[in-house]
Amino acid sequence: MTKLEQIQAAEARLLIHTYDRFPVLFVAGEDVHLIDENGDRYLDLLSGIGVNALGYRCKVIEEAIARQSCTLINASNYYFNDKMADLAERVTRLTGMDRVYFSNSGTEAVEAALKLARAHAGVLREEGRQIGTKFLVLEQSFHGRTFGSISATHKEKYRLPFAPVVPGFEFVKFNDVADLRAKFSNEVCAILLEAIQGEGGVRPLTQEFFAEARALADSTGALVIADEIQAGLGRTGKWCSYQHFGIQPDITTLAKPLAGGIPMGATLCTNEVARAFHAGMHGTTFGGGPLACAVATAVIDYIEKENLLAHVAEIGGYFQAQLRSLAERHSYIVDVRGAGLMIAAELNSAGLAKHAVTEMLKRRVIINCTSDTALRFLPPYIFERAHVDTTIAALDEVFTEYAAAPAVAETVAHSAGGKTHG
Ligand SMILES: *Cc1c(COP(=O)(O)O)cnc(C)c1O
Repeated sequence: MTKLEQIQAAEARLLIHTYDRFPVLFVAGEDVHLIDENGDRYLDLLSGIGVNALGYRCKVIEEAIARQSCTLINASNYYFNDKMADLAERVTRLTGMDRVYFSNSGTEAVEAALKLARAHAGVLREEGRQIGTKFLVLEQSFHGRTFGSISATHKEKYRLPFAPVVPGFEFVKFNDVADLRAKFSNEVCAILLEAIQGEGGVRPLTQEFFAEARALADSTGALVIADEIQAGLGRTGKWCSYQHFGIQPDITTLAKPLAGGIPMGATLCTNEVARAFHAGMHGTTFGGGPLACAVATAVIDYIEKENLLAHVAEIGGYFQAQLRSLAERHSYIVDVRGAGLMIAAELNSAGLAKHAVTEMLKRRVIINCTSDTALRFLPPYIFERAHVDTTIAALDEVFTEYAAAPAVAETVAHSAGGKTHG
């Protein structure tokens, strides 16, 4: 038995089955590559699902972890630590928010946002305003896996097995201004959205839809919550994807790339919204510990020092242009979209998308597929043109082979393991 086979057998016996994994065992990483147990190197365009923004073996992350782990990892939120305020200064400045609450994951950041919005509506009611408790959320959205966040997540497979989910969530058709207007009323306490949907297939809101959400919320005192867990912190070439629209939310959430692979989430809001929480209303054991805060500060400082936002925008533009010219040669690609290094190539069949992910993995290039037909690219921010060229050449080969023998390829894809996330 190989090492991989031993682990597969042990996991099949010991783990609660929540993932269908690809049969690959990664043991190390270096820059934009992951390395398997045989020493084979894979070009990584998934980054641990948008987490490893600075790639692997990044010196500033290693040093921050080493330094802080030798000093203090955690002492609880009963006391002050000397790293949290430094990080708070940075994330509030980058998002244009006033205050922050730190947690440990994306879904926790969303839970805090939802609780803030409900509590804020309560404050407004006490002040005599007419405002309800309902959330408007978008079709194709993804906000996480805990009860509040699945209640805001559109796909039924995430919600139905766990019914009843949290009441008070209504889904609005994506980018449908008329539907948004029809469903908005003073029953609504907040509109939760991703300015660029991630798991939903890398789909940006229209300017008109986002602006209407902002205007409707302003008309009643309801809040706009922008979930930036995937698109935020530079992924799209700006610190927050809502900054492409020039629209400021009242609450925003960060997580995936925040602490360079150490779990961390953040919920940020305006001073107006922050009034709704007081000591004891919300909290966490681990959130905002000195280790995670020190690493996140190092990540943000590195992105600023290396001017990586401009790099992300530049490489992302090049990547999209290369995908568009690939689409001219292969009509399987029906759309290319995204911003910065959050890019999707929409294919004309789910079978082909699954096949392409498997074939790319065989060629040692890691991509994934989301919303069935979208090939998604979330490479580290340190990606270079040469890496884009390698990716495009591998895609070209996969589509060319598929064109020669599509039926054979589809059968292989269906029998191969590895289900995609989302
Ligand atoms: C991944 C993701 C989440 C959930 O984050 P977890 O850390 O997996 O809980 C929430 N919102 C968006 C937009 C995401 O991409």
